[in-house]
Amino acid sequence: MLLIDIFQAYVDDKVTNKQKMSEILKELNENSYDLFKVITQCEVQCGCIKHHDNIEYELRGINYDQLLRLYINSACDECREKIEAQIGKCILSLTSVCSLCGINIADIFIKEHRNIAQHCSAK
Ligand SMILES: [Zn+2]
Repeated sequence: MLLIDIFQAYVDDKVTNKQKMSEILKELNENSYDLFKVITQCEVQCGCIKHHDNIEYELRGINYDQLLRLYINSACDECREKIEAQIGKCILSLTSVCSLCGINIADIFIKEHRNIAQHCSAK
């Protein structure tokens, strides 16, 4: 059993089974927006994260290596902690959505890994 399977089973037991889909989707939306706000605050208030105009273009190409280098790896310890906490909330909400749809989140990681590998090898 993968770590993420254990995580999903735990989330199902403690969170998913106690909420409705509409509540979880609302939380996912709020958590995603809060992640945007946290990163923006790190950029604007702290300044440890630098804005790169080309990031929008990179997002279209989903260059994760460059994303990590531009954003996460440049965050100071305090901002990194805030970003990680918010990403954790997003993962929690996404895991609950997966469970309510009968989807194993580990399968999505595997499929996305394949998609990225195919996308990168096509370049
Ligand atoms: Zn910072």
